[in-house]
Amino acid sequence: MIISSIAKTAKALTQRRFTLDFPNEREQLSDRERYMLRLDMPTCISCGACERVCPNKTIEMVNVESEKPNKKMPKIDIERCMFCGLCAEVCPTKCLVMTKSYDFEAYDKRMFVKRPEDLE
Ligand code: SF4
Ligand code: SF4
Repeated sequence: MIISSIAKTAKALTQRRFTLDFPNEREQLSDRERYMLRLDMPTCISCGACERVCPNKTIEMVNVESEKPNKKMPKIDIERCMFCGLCAEVCPTKCLVMTKSYDFEAYDKRMFVKRPEDLE
């Protein structure tokens, strides 16, 4: 019994690791992975195409500070997001893109609601 336990421990110590020392180590993601959205506010033309195409009603156009009156940009509730990428696909200026950043856990669900300024 004891010998078998020692043997198992020795075997486990010599095997390659299956876990990463996160966040110091990160897995290699493929080019097809899609996570947090990023918005380049200066090139957003406030067309609202991202809001209209979102299948999960995740995006709401909200007012932002601007020299132009009633300038609106997308506010995104990441908790509702399916990471389908449709919003980034239809964006005419490609100011809205999907990134590989998946490290956005939060204790408070209100932190998942990202205003345009939070998405930059
Ligand atoms: S990735 Fe899909 S679900 Fe998420 S905000 Fe864009 S369109 Fe909506
Ligand atoms: S992020 Fe793109 S699709 Fe959405 S309002 Fe701005 S320009 Fe239009």
